[in-house]
Amino acid sequence: MTATTDNTAADVDAAARAAQAAFLAYGASDAATRGALLRGLADALEGQREHLVALADAETHLGPARLNGELDRTAFQLRGFATQVGQGAAFTATDDPAVAGPPPAGHPALQRVRVPLGPVAMFAASNFPFAFSVLGGDAAAALAAGCPVVVKAHPGHRGLSQAVAGLAHGVVAAQGLPAGVFALVDGPGHDIGVALVQHPAIAAAAFTGSVRGGLALQRAAQARPRPIPFFGELGSVNPVVALPAAIAANGPALAQGLAGSITLGCGQFCTSPGVLVLPTGALGDAFVAQLVEALRAAPTHAMLTPQMQAGFASGRDAWAAHPRVQALLDARAADGAPPRPFLGQVAAADFIADAHLHEEVFGPAALVVRVDGSAQAIEVLQAVGGTLTVTLWGADADTPETRALVHAATQVAGRVLFAGYPTGVAVTAGQQHGGPFPASTMPATTSVGWAALDRFLRPVALQDAPAWLAARGGRPC
Ligand code: NAP
Repeated sequence: MTATTDNTAADVDAAARAAQAAFLAYGASDAATRGALLRGLADALEGQREHLVALADAETHLGPARLNGELDRTAFQLRGFATQVGQGAAFTATDDPAVAGPPPAGHPALQRVRVPLGPVAMFAASNFPFAFSVLGGDAAAALAAGCPVVVKAHPGHRGLSQAVAGLAHGVVAAQGLPAGVFALVDGPGHDIGVALVQHPAIAAAAFTGSVRGGLALQRAAQARPRPIPFFGELGSVNPVVALPAAIAANGPALAQGLAGSITLGCGQFCTSPGVLVLPTGALGDAFVAQLVEALRAAPTHAMLTPQMQAGFASGRDAWAAHPRVQALLDARAADGAPPRPFLGQVAAADFIADAHLHEEVFGPAALVVRVDGSAQAIEVLQAVGGTLTVTLWGADADTPETRALVHAATQVAGRVLFAGYPTGVAVTAGQQHGGPFPASTMPATTSVGWAALDRFLRPVALQDAPAWLAARGGRPC
């Protein structure tokens, strides 16, 4: 186990000031510089794979297979953003030559460019110790955009965080970049994180975690004399809507796959399906029975932290004790053992009426909501309000019913799936990982995929710019 260091408010101040100093050069850096840094970080992670995976496994219980895969994804993300920057993604410019004559048609020469926001405070997630942590997607996107990052370590994997930060410091130094391009701050209690988002040198914050923690940090970011953007990914219940035709065609396989998705990683995915919208009647009954059996047999493992396991137990117990929720599967594990899956069932009207039932229970649990027809399924989606994903099975034909369902799904979710399961988020150009609150505090942006870079760039119009400046082709000064 790596020794961990508790930072103080003075350390936060020093890290933020160093990031501000580094921003002068790094914010104006070219694609080759940023690409070399991102590729160097990927190489460094892979070079220490064995040591890092062992550290991560000891701290998170996620297992070497999953953690090796996550490290691969993290290196892929870093190199992918390097490629994006190399192809000009951070330096896009819209040239709008002058038009002679009076306004509104006549106008001066304008070039719309984008500049990096400045130093970014990055809050590592608990459930992806590589891919959403110290050198995860948020850090990669910010560095690609030209923003130094100051990462707040997650208390669930401090040893790993400090080991990864050590590697990053080495890469930054070896490439001759200012040390302030990357920093990690760590320590128990909320003070470190609050001091970080409130530091005057910090220009934006990116966060993945709980609704409560995210809202507290967003309030702190907005209470500053100069409020800053807060890109928070918070809770999500990821409804799965199964239309009767899909169940009739493929019910047993879908039930089996759904049980696997609910219990994947012991349910500790932001895209874990937590609300299952199923038809009333015999077809839905059979599907529910198959799902119960598949869940009963599904393996689970220890959760990321004891606090998270306690949080899961408390959410599950609240569902089990709810007068309108019928527990379909409620096998309890022995004290200290990994939790067993929970499945509850509730009528649509009761679900819609109780906002507590729309909240995420983080872990291997889901609520079946029984609906009479697609109009009621739409009301359930509207009650959920904001989610990272909606999955719609059986919307294959273009009918007024499927159009209405697709409309409702796209109104509440950042990603709508028509096949498969919501766990598993591809890192690519077409991805959208966000959605109306509480999925995201900034639903017009994504935290996964190459478009995540755009979060950390701010448009500026250069009017009648001198030739030398226009010739920089969007590269900031
Ligand atoms: P968390 O408690 O929100 O913590 C995330 C980060 O925010 C940590 O660095 C934490 O550090 C900090 N923090 C929390 N509350 C704070 C506050 N009031 N002021 C300042 N900083 C604060 O999230 P978590 O530990 O990852 O997991 C807890 C729960 O979050 C889970 O049970 C689950 O419900 C949810 N979660 C959701 C997702 C998702 O993607 N939807 C992902 C992971 C977790 P300190 O505690 O050191 O201050």
